[in-house]
Amino acid sequence: MNRILFILCFCFNLLTAQQTDIVDFKKVESVLLFNQMKVDSTVFNSYEVKFDILKQTDSIYLDAINMKFLNVALDKNAVKYKNDGSKLIIYNNFEASNSYTLDFLFFASPKKAIYFIGWDDNSRNQIWTQGQGKYTSHWLPSIDDMNDKIEFDISCVAPKGYQVISNGKMVSKRETPTYDLWQFDMEKPMSSYLVALVIGKYNKIVKHSKSGIPLEMYYYPEDHSKFEPTYRYTKQMFDFLEEEIGVPFPWQNYKQVPVKDFLYAGMENTSTTIFADSFVIDSIAFVDKNYVNVNAHELAHQWFGDLVTETSGTHHWLQEGFATYYALLAERDIFGEDYYYWRLYEYAQELLEQDEAGGSTSLLNPKSSSTTFYKKGAWVLHMLREKVGNDAFKKGVKNYLKKYQLKNVETDDFIKEVEKASGVDLSEFVKDWLVSSELHFNEMEGFFYLTSIIYKGFLQLDCDVSKESCFDFLKSTDNQYLKSETVRRLKGKLPKDILNFAKDLKVRQVVAKSMTEIPIEFKDEYESFLNDKSFITIEAALFNLWQNFPQDRQKYLDKTKYIQGFNDKNVRILWLTLALLTEDYRSENKKAYFNELTNYTSPKYGFEVRQNAFQYLYQIQACKEECKENLKQATNHHNWRFKKFAKELLKAN
Ligand SMILES: [Zn+2]
Repeated sequence: MNRILFILCFCFNLLTAQQTDIVDFKKVESVLLFNQMKVDSTVFNSYEVKFDILKQTDSIYLDAINMKFLNVALDKNAVKYKNDGSKLIIYNNFEASNSYTLDFLFFASPKKAIYFIGWDDNSRNQIWTQGQGKYTSHWLPSIDDMNDKIEFDISCVAPKGYQVISNGKMVSKRETPTYDLWQFDMEKPMSSYLVALVIGKYNKIVKHSKSGIPLEMYYYPEDHSKFEPTYRYTKQMFDFLEEEIGVPFPWQNYKQVPVKDFLYAGMENTSTTIFADSFVIDSIAFVDKNYVNVNAHELAHQWFGDLVTETSGTHHWLQEGFATYYALLAERDIFGEDYYYWRLYEYAQELLEQDEAGGSTSLLNPKSSSTTFYKKGAWVLHMLREKVGNDAFKKGVKNYLKKYQLKNVETDDFIKEVEKASGVDLSEFVKDWLVSSELHFNEMEGFFYLTSIIYKGFLQLDCDVSKESCFDFLKSTDNQYLKSETVRRLKGKLPKDILNFAKDLKVRQVVAKSMTEIPIEFKDEYESFLNDKSFITIEAALFNLWQNFPQDRQKYLDKTKYIQGFNDKNVRILWLTLALLTEDYRSENKKAYFNELTNYTSPKYGFEVRQNAFQYLYQIQACKEECKENLKQATNHHNWRFKKFAKELLKAN
């Protein structure tokens, strides 16, 4: 009995002992060879890690999933090691306060965290990584635990003609006739999930922040004309955030790289943000689908997430809540106060919806939804600032970042600094806003009542009860966000002269979308939506006009035949579908239209294009052999959202 208890206790101790208490990994230098560009190539990569022992131990480990090792040496001598498939364990009599160097060659065959795009089908060739949620240890021996920060200096051998981008500063590029060796240098440590690597064909433009930090903005060589709208406001936001946060940008440079078929909107790898190439846009797309918010969000993470990192998921809001809040501040600097209030209002509505569905949780619950971490997190910071005042808030944030830079943090660390800076006891605030799972919606709404007369009027409207009061509100306000929302709430029951006081592009867009039945006396005006500089408006208008006025279908199709729309080809794919459905429209081209639409389902295209094409082809029951083949292939896609979509579509048909 006792013995069993003893064994249980012993095991428990082993499980809870943190390696971070025993060893401090300092610096990794690794040379990665991508000269064969295949996941299963048998090229060995070299690796060296330096570490300090904090407590005497007989073994240490690196996380290394499904790898093979050769020439493992500790301080240049062969050493006993074990590869258990998920860890490389090194056995030695490690003495406290001693430093060691471990060298080896390794071969990885990663199933995730690094993605090889387009190497099979000769479309756009890229390699890119995603560490958060996937573990860098699939492709690079590292430490899955966020609490060990290491300086990673990545070098990479890649074929000529490709650009290599990794964390830190590119310090040298050595060329041979067929390959280049790219060397990067970091000066400061980071958690392993923030290590990044991109290989692809890119051009770049470099600007400098007010403080002199190089801002490297990458784009595909053919996308030069999209550079300006894509990266619009980048420098302004960078300068704004450095000033607002009050702590200089912590890394040597800031790089932003679009990639194909990315898993998320963007990822804030240290000094190297990777983002979805669907955000690479032209000026018209900018109106509806720009990169500004994602740009600001990932940039804010360079401080909140990368410089100070949560100790565990319990404190995840210290990353996502902060990035969401500071992105809003950066956007307020560009788009103004109305925009800021509107986004806060939208976040509050989303939180209310979640609350009504029974989904409210404490902000400190590691299982909270993204809505809670991001949007409630942002609201908490907004309310905290209201409570303690601008100066104390900014001072608290600044001291918090300075005190814990390059370390890991918990909620208390932040709260204490704000308390110190403000002299305000925040225990009640913490209880209500952070610990409690209750959503304090009345206080959130109360903020609008207190600070804005327009919102006070807006919040009292009920368009179902009184259309007239909503019409009056529309006529009386200049706030385009509240106008749009009011039009939305009128659900198509719009006054005849609506366009006289709905001149803004975004308000017109809501009119175009909500008027699915177009009164004949409104036809001429509605047709003008086809000229709007918004791909969402054009898409909605084309569809509604085509539906409402069959006799004019040819005219509408002719007018829009050259428009592609967003990167997901929203207008073009709708157009092809309608052209196929319109009986007497250019019969000689039907085959070509069908082929083009089917072709958009192929892996050559980004998953957003493919998803649109699949959807329309299924709707008109025209997903034939090639389309079906592509759909089957899509059920193995690395992007889980697209994969799920493909599986569900296949199952439903
Ligand atoms: Zn984020």
